[in-house]
Amino acid sequence: MAAAQTNPLWKEAKIKNYLPHMTVPEVESFLERSDMVIIPIGALEQHSSHLPIGTDFINGVELCKLIAQEREVLVAPVLMAGQSPYHMAFPGTISLSAETIVKVHMETVESLVQNGFKRFIFMNSHGGNRAITTFLVDQINQKTAAVAVDFSVAVSPFLKPENTKNTTSLDRHAGVSETCDSLYLMPSLVEIERATDPGMKLPKHLEKMLPEVIKEEPTAKLLFLSEALKAEETGKKTSTIEMTKTGVWGDLNPKQATLERGEERVSKMVAACRGFIDKWNELTQQTI
Ligand SMILES: [Zn+2]
Repeated sequence: MAAAQTNPLWKEAKIKNYLPHMTVPEVESFLERSDMVIIPIGALEQHSSHLPIGTDFINGVELCKLIAQEREVLVAPVLMAGQSPYHMAFPGTISLSAETIVKVHMETVESLVQNGFKRFIFMNSHGGNRAITTFLVDQINQKTAAVAVDFSVAVSPFLKPENTKNTTSLDRHAGVSETCDSLYLMPSLVEIERATDPGMKLPKHLEKMLPEVIKEEPTAKLLFLSEALKAEETGKKTSTIEMTKTGVWGDLNPKQATLERGEERVSKMVAACRGFIDKWNELTQQTI
């Protein structure tokens, strides 16, 4: 008889401070050092032909894991899917309602508060969840004993603002930046050779606004994003499939993505979050 083999698909290594990998004694000893949790909120949605459906979830979890190697923060993902109704024409996309997403995370926080955790960072990695994250964080602060913050708000004072003066393109969903991050965070899941020109066609009035949106003119950007990327049923003609058959929402070919830029972007984010956590510990007299 041949010797028994372990699961041939198993490749995972145990990651420090990553809740799904931890034992009860490890969580108990973590609680003696810290009461801080980071919860990634992602999406399961089309990311064109070169990135996987789980891009936002996987990238979000991986970023949180990297942060948790540098500071004592527990990584606790509980939901893979997010709010993505405008991608529904592409198979594989799963969209949850805002109410569901808020409820799952409220109940998650209530459990973790019972365990002894008190401070929460919500790391949203999908544009469609932005408003939900803002609302969720406020609900936690209003209704539970915990204190919660939105990662993007928390890290912004620790990030140098990007120079957008010379930007000439729209680079958003499944575009160059997201592909750069993916090349660094989940290299084996990126099929860069499958990336193609986005072929984006915007409704005429949005096309007209685009130059100002690219320059980050605040009113143009506000109006553009309020209307663009919305479900087909709204009649706005801005669901993804109505603007781009490739699923890339932007006008750059993601083939331009590089690992170097991904590494730089991710390290900046990790450093900014480290800065925020240190400041939070300092202000609440916690030692790491
Ligand atoms: Zn994405």
